[in-house]
Amino acid sequence: MACSGDDPVEPTVYDVPKVVEKYVQSFVEEGQKRGIDIKLENLIVEIKATGATSGDECGSCTQAGTNGQRKITLVETGLCWGTTIEQNREALVFHELGHCLLQRDHRDDLLPGGAPVSLMNSRAVGFYEACAYPIGNEDECDKRYRRTYYLDELFNAKVPAPDWAR
Ligand SMILES: [Zn+2]
Repeated sequence: MACSGDDPVEPTVYDVPKVVEKYVQSFVEEGQKRGIDIKLENLIVEIKATGATSGDECGSCTQAGTNGQRKITLVETGLCWGTTIEQNREALVFHELGHCLLQRDHRDDLLPGGAPVSLMNSRAVGFYEACAYPIGNEDECDKRYRRTYYLDELFNAKVPAPDWAR
């Protein structure tokens, strides 16, 4: 009856808080639209009150050496998550899912015109944000039209530069 020998390996789990789950679902849908099938298993997402994470400031993706458990840690502090706008929360989750589920590394080059090429940029924020304070300058500060391109690039790094960057 007794098991001996191999150390038990903990099974991987899927455990994502509600406030993040909608972005994860959206990520899966956007992948599907582009012919990429993503299985939602083996993923933990945690929101930490504060704290330095290595590498990216607002989030990280790690994978355990023992059982391969993937884990995304998001930082709650201020503009990382707590007080930022919808589009930037989504972009942060998508960036970390890019690391965790698409095995993407950082990509820090820029488009003609200076916008980041990729959501996998390690420093940029506000990739496709709406205006935080729309006061008669919506046309200039509303970048939501860029979302389609950034999602195209996330799932296929070879996508050509978008019209708006030329
Ligand atoms: Zn990153």
